[in-house]
Amino acid sequence: MTASVLAHTILIVAALVTFGWVLWQRFAVLRLSAPDPRTDHIALRLKRLLLVGFGQSRQPRYLVAGILHILIFAGFIILSIRSLTLLGIGFDPGFSLPGFDGSGGRFYAVLKDYTALVVLVACILAMLRRLVFHPARYSDRLAVKSHGHEAYVILGLIALLMVADALFEGTGRIVEPGEDPHMPMAQSAAVLLAGFSEPALSTIHSGAFWMHNVALLFFLCYLPVSKHFHVITSLPNVFLSKLKPTGHVKPPRHDVSDLDELPSLGVGKLEDFTWKHVLDFYTCTDCGRCSDHCPAYATGTPLSPRMISIKSRDLAYEMYPVVGKKPPANGRPTFVGETISPEELWACTTCGACEEACPVTIEYVDKIVDMRRFLVEQGDVPPKLQKTMADLEQRGNPFGKPQRTRAKWLQESEPDGPGVRVLEAGDEADILLFTDSAAAFDPRIQEISRSMASILQLSGQDAGIMGSDEVDSGHEVRRIGEEGLFEILRDQNMEAMEERSFKRVVTTDPHAFNALKNDGYDLDLPVLHHSQLMAELLDAGKLELQPIGDERTYTFHDPCYLGRHNGEYDAPRRVMGAIPGLTTVEMTRSKNRSFCCGGGLLSLYHEGESERRMGEKRLDMAADAGAQVVVTACPFCMINLEDAVKTTGREGEMEIIDLAELVSRSTNAMSNTESAANAKGEQN
Ligand code: SF4
Ligand code: SF4
Repeated sequence: MTASVLAHTILIVAALVTFGWVLWQRFAVLRLSAPDPRTDHIALRLKRLLLVGFGQSRQPRYLVAGILHILIFAGFIILSIRSLTLLGIGFDPGFSLPGFDGSGGRFYAVLKDYTALVVLVACILAMLRRLVFHPARYSDRLAVKSHGHEAYVILGLIALLMVADALFEGTGRIVEPGEDPHMPMAQSAAVLLAGFSEPALSTIHSGAFWMHNVALLFFLCYLPVSKHFHVITSLPNVFLSKLKPTGHVKPPRHDVSDLDELPSLGVGKLEDFTWKHVLDFYTCTDCGRCSDHCPAYATGTPLSPRMISIKSRDLAYEMYPVVGKKPPANGRPTFVGETISPEELWACTTCGACEEACPVTIEYVDKIVDMRRFLVEQGDVPPKLQKTMADLEQRGNPFGKPQRTRAKWLQESEPDGPGVRVLEAGDEADILLFTDSAAAFDPRIQEISRSMASILQLSGQDAGIMGSDEVDSGHEVRRIGEEGLFEILRDQNMEAMEERSFKRVVTTDPHAFNALKNDGYDLDLPVLHHSQLMAELLDAGKLELQPIGDERTYTFHDPCYLGRHNGEYDAPRRVMGAIPGLTTVEMTRSKNRSFCCGGGLLSLYHEGESERRMGEKRLDMAADAGAQVVVTACPFCMINLEDAVKTTGREGEMEIIDLAELVSRSTNAMSNTESAANAKGEQN
């Protein structure tokens, strides 16, 4: 064995041992974390891995940064073959990987040389972009520690690898000229070094070789101690990502279904997370896309989802150091309380925009709900929310109203009668209209229920409500973190439903819609949002819409729990499109990029500190799009946006209505036209 081979062997073994040791230490916290089954539906997981992982499908949302990342990633994959080859050359100068000799090798040599050029340019541009343009998304007003320098280290190392290989190839060409294909990087190096003596070229050749391999192995060991751990973890993280709809909230524990068997609920310390959620922390690229889309961050609350990942990862690195002793248990900060503040957690609307934006499928809603479960168990709940929870527990609704008045909106419906009836135990109907609390008790939101009832009547549907036997769907309760109370409410509703017979459930509230679909209601029949039913009635010719004679411009605001969490973007637009002559416009942030109005969870019951209300910001977006009427399909959105109309002084300028109210106006227009026609016929 030559001295060079020995040195090369020592270098590789030392690097691999170091890398293995660092990984072992990094995964210490995963080994202590909660279980999380993630190996089901392998075919689906592989598909997502190909699309989101290798295909980088979420990157182009930010065009410049996305394209640069795709170029570097593709280059990384292509050049990894070259890196392995250079490691092999340390043992045998003629080494090539199977399939990469002969014509295959020549083709690859050209491909990798052009790739290296593209990667080098992409690295330089990425560095310049950070240095010169300072994209706002890279800095975070809530950051406690900056990791920005790590990006320069990584980009610099990648650039160094490209340059080293070019020098290695270029000097090789001068020393041993042959039938060299066109390779811009190698040729440029050869041109640059053409005047050097043979011994100098030989020194540069071997220096470049060592420089490449040392940099490569240093890069490997540096990844798990930096924010660039994602280079290793992102593909597995995408493969292991959540397959259930994002509107589904994870149970407190995956391995225990009975809450009474759990010693405690929720996540209070790092090790209480599931191993997958810790892997998420390691995978965060610190790109800031989640916070850039987060309505809570945009309105100046103390929440930045990105910082939840970064602070958690920093703590994991600190508590489980690669070298040295772990800090004693009493030397650790309280995770939920100090590292992550309750104010951050209560600021989240669970809108899911962060998850939609994340290029490496990091989950936030489940983590935040898990941490809230801990706060609830500690009794650390904002006072107004405590009152809401008490009302829900005692009365079955968050308004503290007597349950017997739950169907009052229906009894007071005028002038054409209720359109739906109250179903007593044992009754049957085709449709169960699940109103949920807001649409049953809030006087403004009752208008949505009345509009829906008249649409059901007009289209000849056999529909009913459960009256005082219905209680709150528990959707917000669950996301607040009160799992026990949620289960009580859900079971009460299930019991009431089992006493009645119906073929499908319809609701005007996307939160109830999401609860009925994704919160373990186990309904063995279709659940529809009212926009879906109206679209269906229009298609079937059971509902006809007439011009409403309004010159104003309308826009649709996608409710998070209808759109992003349940993928329904089309039905409301089809319904609006069926109204002849209605002028519509899309907001820039629509469909899966919709901006939460703030009603997503707590705002009706609790409002934390913020610089601006989310509803006000959303209303600005509608005004910027040129709309005077914002149509939504969620009672919470309607209330929040109506409040924003008042607080931004736009009364008389902008109007907020629910889709059912819009349709009701359009059918009233039809009724009026028909009445006028009938009246005219009678006169004649
Ligand atoms: S769910 Fe919405 S509010 Fe909560 S962190 Fe994500 S983007 Fe922000
Ligand atoms: S969570 Fe995702 S989107 Fe947010 S900073 Fe990390 S990688 Fe970027």
